[in-house]
Amino acid sequence: MLKVTDAMGRLGTESAFMVLARANQLAQSGRDVINLGIGQPDFPTPPHIVEAGIKALRDGHHGYTPANGILPLREAVAADLCKRHGVDVHPDHVVVVPGGKPTMFFAMLMFGEPGAEIMYPNPGFPIYESMINFTGAKAVPIALSEEKDFSFSADDVLAQITNNTRLIIINSPANPTGGVTPKAEIDKFVAGLGAHPHVAILSDEIYSQMLYDGQDHVSLLQYPSIRDRLIMLDGWSKTYAMTGWRMGYAVWPQALVDHAIRLAVNDHSCVNAASQYAGIAALNGPEAAVLDMVAQFDRRRQIIVDGLNKIDGISCRNSAGAFYAFPNITKTGMTARAFQDGLLDQEAVATVAGTSFGHLGEGYVRFSYANSEENILKALERVGAFVSCHA
Ligand code: PLP
Repeated sequence: MLKVTDAMGRLGTESAFMVLARANQLAQSGRDVINLGIGQPDFPTPPHIVEAGIKALRDGHHGYTPANGILPLREAVAADLCKRHGVDVHPDHVVVVPGGKPTMFFAMLMFGEPGAEIMYPNPGFPIYESMINFTGAKAVPIALSEEKDFSFSADDVLAQITNNTRLIIINSPANPTGGVTPKAEIDKFVAGLGAHPHVAILSDEIYSQMLYDGQDHVSLLQYPSIRDRLIMLDGWSKTYAMTGWRMGYAVWPQALVDHAIRLAVNDHSCVNAASQYAGIAALNGPEAAVLDMVAQFDRRRQIIVDGLNKIDGISCRNSAGAFYAFPNITKTGMTARAFQDGLLDQEAVATVAGTSFGHLGEGYVRFSYANSEENILKALERVGAFVSCHA
């Protein structure tokens, strides 16, 4: 009999991948499935980025690179952060990793152990809670509510800090809610952290360029008072439609960067070289592709939010960022999971139950609008039919 660690039993998962597998299975059996489940842009990676990856392979970039990423890439990241957020970042503090997730993993391995407490958004990206539990630390939810448009309350977060709190995770714009925390609330949060110098912050800013209605992104990097304990996560997956290239990075504080690089060496050695060259092309290339993609997401956002609000039993706040709508479905009388499963099996529309993002997601379902306007309109009709069938 094999004996795996108890920690393995505490590891959760990301249900969006299970929904994707089920949706693919249905599609293979001939159903016309509309996938509003998975959180990845439906656009191809812009051609100049693809060409840079191909060129890198042709130019012979086939070997290992430094574990933290090639210097021109880290310099491009620093220049991009200066351009977008007006902040000064040293390229030596940037660690490039395969996607957004490894930074979370590393932060949790650095701070999580029995006796430690880590705060995380709930509903939130499921890997946070999963990884906290894996380390044996206590997962302390930051409750996000519809009434506050799913932004976090600085007072609530600060009030939950104890001597055992090691790390606070925040995510704005957020998955799965599309919520964006206003600057005034972030100002208050950072000011309050002054009284708790033992607490590190992981700010997941992977949707930093997916904001609507003229909002500017507020990066935690813009607050000098916490730079010595801030881990800022961002990456290429969402912004440049590069989920399969596995490219992400974090800016680490001086005290942690060597730990992060050591974890990278132990874990994956380095990100594949061709992706790193593609990543430089993404950061240094024309912005038009990103702006166009965001404009299309914005149009779809309005279509899906309006359409969902027209369905009896469903109400949906306007999402302020990312590419998710997170409607309240309690009045349909179904649980989130029953809604997700029923909608997929009966109407072939894939979504993800709010409970896949934490227990506070009950009563909500995540709709990713990374799909064509035509498919979104078709899906809305099917959702209407599904809900009226259950009325
Ligand atoms: N952070 C958030 C909030 C996300 O929603 C995701 C992906 O859905 C990630 C990080 C991970 O991104 P990646 O695919 O680059 O690992």
